[in-house]
Amino acid sequence: MTQTYRVFDGHNDLLLHLHAQADLRGDSFLTGREGHLDLEKCRAGGFAGGFFAIYVPPENRTGAARTAPVAPDRARAITLEAAAILLRLTRARPDVIRLCTSAAQIEAANRDGAIAALMHVEGAEGIGPDLAELEVLHAAGLRSLGPVWSRPNIFGHGVPFAYPATPDIGPGLTDAGLRLVAECERLGILIDLSHLNEAGFWDVARLSSRPLVATHSCVHAISPHSRNLTDRQLAAIAESGGVVGLNFGCQFLREDGERRDDTPLATMVRHLAYLVERLGETGVALGSDFDGALMPQAIGTAAGLPALTEAMQQAGFGAALIERICWQNWIDLLRRTIG
Ligand SMILES: [Zn+2]
Repeated sequence: MTQTYRVFDGHNDLLLHLHAQADLRGDSFLTGREGHLDLEKCRAGGFAGGFFAIYVPPENRTGAARTAPVAPDRARAITLEAAAILLRLTRARPDVIRLCTSAAQIEAANRDGAIAALMHVEGAEGIGPDLAELEVLHAAGLRSLGPVWSRPNIFGHGVPFAYPATPDIGPGLTDAGLRLVAECERLGILIDLSHLNEAGFWDVARLSSRPLVATHSCVHAISPHSRNLTDRQLAAIAESGGVVGLNFGCQFLREDGERRDDTPLATMVRHLAYLVERLGETGVALGSDFDGALMPQAIGTAAGLPALTEAMQQAGFGAALIERICWQNWIDLLRRTIG
């Protein structure tokens, strides 16, 4: 029988869909929905918590418009509305899904059988240059933030989607971006390096005193996609005692960079083994991108997580290492960063 491991996951885009479908209390998460994440699928696959992203979608998803800058007023509105969905959902049913702001709260939620949700901002377009919204979002429970998605904003330049390509595309953080990172350090908000270009990555590495974190990224040496981490970046993350969560998105995993869902589990295991080699057993975790990317067929939804852990086991990963990758490494990292 396949063993089910509990999983704390580095990234999902559930809130994007709840917002787009005007499910403003998140009811469909509880009652069942299409897509990768709902309560039943989480319970079936061992999904016990993760980073829940607040993300502002482009107004136009076609071609180059997809990564065009977004209007600040619209971004602020969507950011607050998406945060409100997570707050309503977790307040309504803390027995089922609970907003957590520390490692201890995540562990307590898990002991009580509740999914632990960490609020994350993916692209800070909803935050103005005076950072007022950051203060409010922190008070609402925000504990993780990526300054940019894969587009420019007032804080920096996201890495565009390109294959094959290095992440060394465009300039780094702006002055406002440097202030944002400093303020996050002060507030105890983790800075996520996924979606930053390489110049921005090094700006954060220079500025931050905390472990470096990429919540949902893969290995550039295996799949030379601009969104993936080069060996130099992995070395910096390792040196800082940081963590990388493996992205399950097919186009980031595949050696050929194609967006095809027949991507084998062996490819995912290859990335994980490479990350273990570079970051050590404490530096590797999962960052599925559920509801945000094309999943390998072999996993499908959160209910399919045991297929991945079984592939890890078959490749010779021991039970203790699998448990670290699925759960403990994120919890330890969060204890060292947000408390
Ligand atoms: Zn993302």
